Amino acid sequence: MSVPEVIPCAAKVRAWSRAARERGEAVALVPTMGNLHEGHLSLVEIAMAECPRVIVSIFVNPTQFGHDEDFSGYPRTFDEDLAKLEKLGVHAVFVPKVDELYPPGDRTTVSVGWGTDKLCGAYRPGHFDGVTNVVARLFIAVEPELAVFGQKDAQQSLVIQRMVQTLGFPVRLKLGPTLRESDGLAMSSRNVYLSSDERAKASILYRALEAVGDLLRKGERDPLVLEDRGKEVLSGLATEYFSVVDPATLERPECLDDGLWLVACAARLGRARLIDNHVYRLAGNEVREALLI
Ligand code: AMP
Repeated sequence: MSVPEVIPCAAKVRAWSRAARERGEAVALVPTMGNLHEGHLSLVEIAMAECPRVIVSIFVNPTQFGHDEDFSGYPRTFDEDLAKLEKLGVHAVFVPKVDELYPPGDRTTVSVGWGTDKLCGAYRPGHFDGVTNVVARLFIAVEPELAVFGQKDAQQSLVIQRMVQTLGFPVRLKLGPTLRESDGLAMSSRNVYLSSDERAKASILYRALEAVGDLLRKGERDPLVLEDRGKEVLSGLATEYFSVVDPATLERPECLDDGLWLVACAARLGRARLIDNHVYRLAGNEVREALLI
């Protein structure tokens, strides 16, 4: 395998992408903030299976962090990340500096105004505007045919889907399932913030989601009953929310009919803010885990 081409500037990344397209090679982009784990790498593998050229962006995006959040302490491990991407045969890595994506004095933002104040948005004001702001800039720089995201950040993927639909970005979106540690904890760059005691507790989020899955499989369809069960399992943690919602509205429905439903939660554990979700497709008595996009 050869080392991926490391591209720091937007004009060069666009030239790289256009040259690939002129050769008839579709480009897939996997946006990340680095500190890559198996979850990120599984998205890269999806991208590699779909497109002949794959580029991974590594950019810790300041606009999606609140003032009291972990932007400066966010783990940055570029050399290790590059070695992991080389092993997978990734073709290029886009690593812009902040000024490259946000020129000094630039105050432009991209805000879909849909769903951004719900679930995580209620606890992280402005976060999803920061996400769409940077993803739009990445899409404009890279012009990918395909972009792969993780269902781990379910609300993020729905907000990005809205942005793509309403602004007409010519990009196809694909989601990868959440990769988990052996006890069920969703892999996350922020898991490094957990002490060993906290790490031992952290799989409670997964167990709460599974408890809701068990109730669904027993035929329970009342979202309030399902949420109460999830909150009960989570009660040892500082829960921000445990919600059963319609992915089309991010609102709790009256009752879960046949269709796709998002069960999502967030809780604080020490320095870490953990999020997780399960997505279910209901059809009569059948309950299946599903992808949102
Ligand atoms: P991040 O670096 O945290 O911004 O994540 C980059 C991408 O990886 C996002 O699309 C995330 O949803 C995705 N991702 C993060 N954790 C996981 C995981 N455990 N499994 C699959 N994808 C993930």
